[in-house]
Amino acid sequence: MFASLTEEQWHAIITNDATFDNTFLYGVGSTGIFCRPSCKSRNPKKEYVKIFKDAQQAIAEGFRPCKRCKPCDLRMPDEDWTLKIKAYINEHYDKPLTLAHLADQCHGSPYHLQKTFKRIMHISPIAYLQRVRIAHAKQELVETEKSIANIGVNVGIPNTSYFITLFKRQTGTTPKQFRLSFQKES
Ligand SMILES: [Zn+2]
Repeated sequence: MFASLTEEQWHAIITNDATFDNTFLYGVGSTGIFCRPSCKSRNPKKEYVKIFKDAQQAIAEGFRPCKRCKPCDLRMPDEDWTLKIKAYINEHYDKPLTLAHLADQCHGSPYHLQKTFKRIMHISPIAYLQRVRIAHAKQELVETEKSIANIGVNVGIPNTSYFITLFKRQTGTTPKQFRLSFQKES
């Protein structure tokens, strides 16, 4: 038996409300496709909508996952999903990443990504990204003769003054001081 559609769910569907993405999925009886509430596909006719608690239930009822919102990917355990996001950041930290871009790459909504990542990592995805960037910057400062501006570009922070500010906020010292103090030590 299908759960009946509540007014709240219907509203989430027609407004593509991503905050409901982890609470239910909906199938459209006329097409046999099921979607996340946030899916931007054409609004279904209300009488065709069927509510599912998860993708397994929808598939068991003979529905196929929407190619656009990929509702099956959401069922990936949050830990695995977070690892995937982390790996993506570790590999692409030098690119101009935003939360929206990450969410797109990792098939989730920015809201859900932010919330899940933070719950598991105890740090937001963007704060984690900045931490990875600064770690790489430290390494380049110590191991290379490249200019501060150059290193900023290499780690994905092309705005030099922002790079210096961020570096100082995280390490308590400027990139230049960091490099000097390391040279003094060795
Ligand atoms: Zn969809």
